[in-house]
Amino acid sequence: MRVFSLGLLAAIAFAAAPVFGAGSGESANQAPASAGARKDVQLTIHMHYWNTKVFDDNWEVFKIAAADTGVSLKGTAPKTGSDSKQIFNLMMASGEIPDIVHFMKRDLEKYALEGAFLPLNDLIDKHAPNIKKFLDSRPDIKRYATAPDGKIYAIPFVYEGNVEKAWFIRKDWLDKLGLGIPKTVAEYRAALKAMVAGDPNGNGKADEVGFFNRQSSAGTRDLLPLFGVYPMFFVDAGKIKYGAYVPGYRRAMVEIAEWYKDGLIDREISTRGNKAREILLGDDIGASTHDWLASTGSFNDKPEIKQKAPKFEFAVIPPPADINGKVWEAAARAPVKDETNAWAISAKNKNPIETIKYFDYWFTEKGRNMMNFGILGTHYEMSGDIPMYKQEILRSGKKVGDLLAEVGAGLEIGMLGDYRGELQSMNEFSRSGVEMYVKKGFLAEAFPPLSFTAEEKKVLDARWTALDTFIRETRDKWTLGAEPVEANFDKYLSQMRAMGMDEVLAAYQSAYDRYMRVK
Ligand code: CA
Repeated sequence: MRVFSLGLLAAIAFAAAPVFGAGSGESANQAPASAGARKDVQLTIHMHYWNTKVFDDNWEVFKIAAADTGVSLKGTAPKTGSDSKQIFNLMMASGEIPDIVHFMKRDLEKYALEGAFLPLNDLIDKHAPNIKKFLDSRPDIKRYATAPDGKIYAIPFVYEGNVEKAWFIRKDWLDKLGLGIPKTVAEYRAALKAMVAGDPNGNGKADEVGFFNRQSSAGTRDLLPLFGVYPMFFVDAGKIKYGAYVPGYRRAMVEIAEWYKDGLIDREISTRGNKAREILLGDDIGASTHDWLASTGSFNDKPEIKQKAPKFEFAVIPPPADINGKVWEAAARAPVKDETNAWAISAKNKNPIETIKYFDYWFTEKGRNMMNFGILGTHYEMSGDIPMYKQEILRSGKKVGDLLAEVGAGLEIGMLGDYRGELQSMNEFSRSGVEMYVKKGFLAEAFPPLSFTAEEKKVLDARWTALDTFIRETRDKWTLGAEPVEANFDKYLSQMRAMGMDEVLAAYQSAYDRYMRVK
C-alpha cells in the first residue's frame, strides 16, 4: 500500500519551489476570471512536439481553461505528420504563423530575432502578474528566457525538482557479504570487488557484474565524480571548464582503467545498451549503477525479479565520498535545457494582451495544478494545499502520464512543472532516495542553461560533434585498456586543442558571461 508522507512532499516542494511552496498560504495568484468586461477570443496555436504531441481541440483541460479565461485555442498543426522539427520549419517558412507557436525555445528565439514573435517584457510587466512574480523569483529562468538581444520572446516549460540520478547498490548482497554501505570511493571499490568475487547471488559462478551503465555512450563517465571530476561542462569560479579537459581527468581515467582491469566494471559497459538494467538486474547479476532515481528504484517492485532473488533490494545510497573526501552528486537536473519547450506570441497576433493573460493563467495555482495533475475530482483531489493524485489513478495499471495526456494535461507548455506529482507516482525506494539527496544537499548546482548567439553556435556546430566523439572514444579506449592513459594523456589534450576545444570553451564562456549580466 502506498502511504504518502505529506511532510516529505511539502518539504521537497518547498525546497524546490519557494514561489509555490505548499502551505505557504500566500494568495498571490490572481483569480483567472476576475470581474469586469472580458473579451472572449479564439486563438490559433501550432503545437507539435516530440514527434507525437499534437494539439487537439477536444482536450478537456483546454476547455476548462477557455471557460476560465475567455480564450479558446484552435490547433493548426497536422495530426498526420510525425516529424515535429520538419513540421515546425515548414510552418515558419510558409509565413502563415498562427497566434501562438509552441516549440523548442531555441528555435522560437531564432525566428524571434528575425521579427516573427513579439517581445514579451512589457506585456508581462503590465498583464501577467504571475509570470512576472515567477521570473522575479527565479533569476536563473529569467536569464535563460532572455534572448541575446536582451528581450524575452518565449515562456519556457520549467522542470521542478533537481534530483535526477542517484547511486544504487545491491543492499541484500552487501548484507550477505557482511558489508556496510560504502561511504567512500575506496569502500565503494572494495564493495564492488567483494561482490564480483564473493558469489553473492549464490549460484556458484563468478557471474556478478560490478558497476554498469545503461547509457552506453556515457560508458564510465558516471564514475568521474568519484575522482573529483565533473562529467561534462561546469563552472569553476566564473570560468567554464570541461571535465575531460582538466588535469584531474588523468588520474580519474588511470583509476577507472584499473577498476576495469580488476573486473569491477561491466565488461560491456560501452556496448550493452539501454536494456542493461533489465538484463543485469533481471538475471540477478548486476551490483551497482548510477542512474535515474525513479525508474531505477522501480526495479524493486518487479515481481519477476523478486521471484528470482527474493531478498532483492536495489538501494539508493549517498554518493560515495570522492578522492578529496567530498560527497556530491554531479547529475542535478537543470530546470531548463537546450531542448526546452516554450510558447511564443506571433508578431501577427491581433490579441497580444489576451494572449499573455492566457499564458499567465497557467502560472496561477488552478492552471498549474490542472496542467500538472489533470482534472480536479477526476485525476486528483486537494489535500489541504497539496494536489494529490487519486488512488485509482495511481493504481489504474496505466501510466499516470498517459491518463493525463488523454485530457491534454501533462504537456510541456510555458509554465512551471510540479515535482510533487512525480514524487507521488514513485515507489517508496525512489521517494526516500529523493528525500535523502535533497535533504542532505548532495546536489551540485546544475549547469546554467545558456543561449548562444549565431556566432557562438557556428563555433559549436563546427567543432563540438567531432570533439564529443573523440572524447567518448578515447574514454572507452582507456577504460578498456586498449591504450595506456599516462603515456597518451598529453597527446590527448593537445589533440583536443587542435580540434578546437579552446574555441568551444570560449563560446560557452561568452554565452555564460552574457547570461550572468542579465539582471
Ligand atoms: Ca554468482
